[in-house]
Amino acid sequence: MRAARTSQGLTLLVLRESRSPVRQLHVPKPILVFVPFAAILSISGLIISLQLRSADRIAGLEQELAAKQLEWSSKQLAMEAVVSDKEEALRRLRGQVVSLSRQSQDVQKRLQTVSALQKQLEQFLGGERSVRTSSAAGAISPSADDLKPSTLQWTGENAVGGEFIAVHQLGTEKLIEDTEDDFKAIHSLIDQMQKQVPVQLDKAQARLEALSSTPSLWPTPSRTITSSFGYRGDPFTGKSAFHAGIDIAGNTGDPVYAAAAGTVTSVQRDGSRGNFVVIRHSNGLETWYMHLSSSLVKQGDSILKGQTIGKLGSTGRSTGPHLHFQVMKKQEPVNPLPYIQ
Ligand SMILES: [Zn+2]
Repeated sequence: MRAARTSQGLTLLVLRESRSPVRQLHVPKPILVFVPFAAILSISGLIISLQLRSADRIAGLEQELAAKQLEWSSKQLAMEAVVSDKEEALRRLRGQVVSLSRQSQDVQKRLQTVSALQKQLEQFLGGERSVRTSSAAGAISPSADDLKPSTLQWTGENAVGGEFIAVHQLGTEKLIEDTEDDFKAIHSLIDQMQKQVPVQLDKAQARLEALSSTPSLWPTPSRTITSSFGYRGDPFTGKSAFHAGIDIAGNTGDPVYAAAAGTVTSVQRDGSRGNFVVIRHSNGLETWYMHLSSSLVKQGDSILKGQTIGKLGSTGRSTGPHLHFQVMKKQEPVNPLPYIQ
């Protein structure tokens, strides 16, 4: 193809195969001017359109981004609020653990005190037994129960020093672990107490009953003995006779006390004993109170140790106001003095 410029335009010669004729194309001048211009115009239009579409897309993306950012920041805020709540909850929990730990330490201290008291009670009960059993042999030696160590022993008191670490300085987990151990120890101590205390209370109760039902109280304010237990010269006949109790001189109307707790089995009057009261005690002993001016109890009454049961007098076979006090063991009179002195 060949192109030839003319004053009116452009002529193009198209040469094909040798056998084909040459073809001539004539492009007029106005078209030669318009086509590049139109091309430039159309490209410019394309660029502007692309720019517009890009700007639109960018604006859309920016909007989307802004929305995402908003969503993200609100999520972050919510998350921060949750974290802050969690931290607050943790702080409170930590406070509670510290408080629990302190409580457990307080409880332990109080249990130590109770445990020590219980040990004293145990020693008291054992000690009473050992004195009673060894007094006959004339020597005081500890009983087997005294030598047996108490199963309730708390070693926390034996601490002698060491670094001081405040509770709040310890890690919460360690604190929780220690507190759990403390509570386990407390539970085990309480379990032991629950087993041992009722047994000891029963022992104490029995001991108390034995003490209160054993005649040991001097039966009237006066301590003047005018006649002792055993053989003596009879005050009426002067002949030797057996005296089954002791005579304590006093004033008519002086109170007469029960030497031990028990039950009144007899309130009577006869020519020899005058007004008299008999009390039976739970250990099988009986105490007799004779020559009363009056009796203040009746048969069947339960009497406390030290209770006033009558008034001193001179009724029956008597030469003056006195109390005849007698202790009966297995229906036989025994010397009252070892009991009440
Ligand atoms: Zn007498």
